[in-house]
Amino acid sequence: MEVLPQFKLHRPASLAEALETRGSLKEARYISGGTDLLANIRRGLTPTENLIELSNVAELQRFERDGDGLHIGAAVTLAVLAADAGIQQDYAVLAEAAAAVAGATHREVATIGGNLCLDTRCYFYNQSQWWRDSNDGCMKYEGEICHVVPTSKRCYAAYSGDTAPALLVLNAQIEIAGPDGSRRVPLDDLFNDDGIDYLTLKPGEMVTTIHIPAPAQGNMASSYTKLRIRESIDFPLAGVAVRVASENGKITSLDAAVTGTNSTPIRVTGCDEFIGLEFDEEQGQKLAKLVQKQTSPVQTTTTKPQYRRRAVTAMSKTLTQNLLQALST
Ligand SMILES: Cc1cc2nc3c(=O)[nH]c(=O)nc-3n(C[C@H](O)[C@H](O)[C@H](O)COP(=O)(O)OP(=O)(O)OC[C@H]3O[C@@H](n4cnc5c(N)ncnc54)[C@H](O)[C@@H]3O)c2cc1C
Ligand code: SF4
Repeated sequence: MEVLPQFKLHRPASLAEALETRGSLKEARYISGGTDLLANIRRGLTPTENLIELSNVAELQRFERDGDGLHIGAAVTLAVLAADAGIQQDYAVLAEAAAAVAGATHREVATIGGNLCLDTRCYFYNQSQWWRDSNDGCMKYEGEICHVVPTSKRCYAAYSGDTAPALLVLNAQIEIAGPDGSRRVPLDDLFNDDGIDYLTLKPGEMVTTIHIPAPAQGNMASSYTKLRIRESIDFPLAGVAVRVASENGKITSLDAAVTGTNSTPIRVTGCDEFIGLEFDEEQGQKLAKLVQKQTSPVQTTTTKPQYRRRAVTAMSKTLTQNLLQALST
């Protein structure tokens, strides 16, 4: 890993100060835990002269529950979310996804906002400068073509955050603040299906809060599972989040989402067709088919895309079966 280049660190204490600082600078990047961004800066992937650190911004530390649900400031760390008894109880999928990110020391500083906004990944991009230079770069950075799909006009670098699919099945919304004020949108709207331009945030905007609706009453369970090369400290080659509810052995709601396979996290559409049905082998195969149709990994890692696709379909089916079994006992 290369030496960190020179930059100026700005440490605002409030949201207004952070936005004002951003507005006063021609070029700058927000930084939270820095576990994704600093590695990329050291690799020469995201050069910047100004870093605006968000971890001291009071508004981004919000962590409270009320009648509407759970409100999590973007600078709350993954370690806090993974260890919180209320989240483990009512939003298990989020606690499990947060606990599955990187390693324990990363999670002490890594934030939920940074996890949602992390850069997309590709074998040809997440490399040292000399390695990339030997390939003349690629379309995502310092190059002309895509080495994964050479005929392509777009980049397929994979979105690899663990918590996004968990928050998608929980129907989270996010609050965004920027020079033109703030807005609240479904989390789905944060992502753009393009490995280069992967977020819909406009210049100067940041995610400030994640809002998760109160858990519905009834027999409901959720969980997250991921495929990775090493059992710890590794990005998902594919990750699946499922939330399911059942009554008398029949599904009353089902949500599934996937990460690691495309340039955005994927909310699996068509899950409503399982409502009112028992989740037998035939339905399991149908869910696997839905996931297969909606995910399209390409060779952005050393692991074969066909394997990741098969794994993600199998994980979706098995995770749903396991959750329903747990609900029925
Ligand atoms: C060895 C290693 C293993 C890893 N394994 C995993 C893994 O298994 N799963 C996984 O998901 N990640 C993994 N990561 C990546 C990273 O650690 C996590 O994604 C982490 O949650 C990023 O959060 P952060 O606060 O450190 O983000 P930062 O590095 O501070 O920021 C990441 C990006 O988000 C932007 N950003 C930060 N906060 C905001 C905000 N509030 N609004 C808008 N933009 C913002 C930054 O500008 C930057 O572009 C790994 C990293 C390393 C080094
Ligand atoms: S998918 Fe293609 S353009 Fe995108 S990072 Fe990989 S090699 Fe580069």
